[in-house]
Amino acid sequence: MKINIDAYAGFCPGVRKAIQLAEQQIKAGKKVAALGSLIHNERELERLRQLGLNQIDQDQFEKGKATSGSLNETLLLIRAHGISPQLSEQIKTQNINCLDATCSLVTRSQKLIQQYCEQGFEIVIVGKKDHPEVKALQGYCQDRVLVVFYRGDERKILQKEKVLLIAQTTIEEDRFNYFTKKIMKGVDELVVKNTICPIVKNRQQQVVNFSKQNDVVVFVASRNSSNSKILFELCRKSNPRCHFVSSIAEINREWFSEANSIGLTGGASTPVWQLLEFKKLIEHELNL
Ligand code: SF4
Repeated sequence: MKINIDAYAGFCPGVRKAIQLAEQQIKAGKKVAALGSLIHNERELERLRQLGLNQIDQDQFEKGKATSGSLNETLLLIRAHGISPQLSEQIKTQNINCLDATCSLVTRSQKLIQQYCEQGFEIVIVGKKDHPEVKALQGYCQDRVLVVFYRGDERKILQKEKVLLIAQTTIEEDRFNYFTKKIMKGVDELVVKNTICPIVKNRQQQVVNFSKQNDVVVFVASRNSSNSKILFELCRKSNPRCHFVSSIAEINREWFSEANSIGLTGGASTPVWQLLEFKKLIEHELNL
């Protein structure tokens, strides 16, 4: 039996940058606190906590419940999802030092929304309303922004003259295409910006290829990672023997019966060290 680790697995560049920034500053002796969860991976978060990274609840902070006093001499790390201009202003007003790890692709979306909003466009974001990236994006055009996710949501569009259609970076291509087709029919001037992250898009094809190359696939990720859920569904479509796990205890030996190869992969928030750890444990479990 061969156990293969997906060569393309691991953090996306945005998440990698945020983690590296945190690690560098902590090593340099700085106090660092992430505004919100840096990554959807409990074990990686625990590793960072052990290094000294603190975390501040973003909702509480926005409500003013984490005061500048409690952040004295602390660098506030803005995660890859970015923050709204209103929150950015709030941080400035409180004289808090920031370490901005907003992914450059997210910054691009923020700028596009701001630019088209200033030109009088209604902004339609295809994404999850409560996703931190989407919450922040909405702040760039507060009065004229609509988030669509489910089929039929396009009926909520208020202004039919000028619309910018834009995507959450991690949304599925099919979902974005659905809204593009639907909205195209009823809008005079539609600008479509497919801002789905190219790394996410490539990753989808890579996961499909990898799952076809292995008899059984173990997909390692946290259950609260939306990007991982999408990848896993694609994985399972191409190989029904694909299993989602977030801990080694969930592994079932029976999955591997009569298999010649096991593939280990994960989402953009699954570190490679975790896949290596799973590999060792599976080898041990199966006496390989
Ligand atoms: S836009 Fe892409 S690279 Fe940037 S954080 Fe999101 S998934 Fe990662």
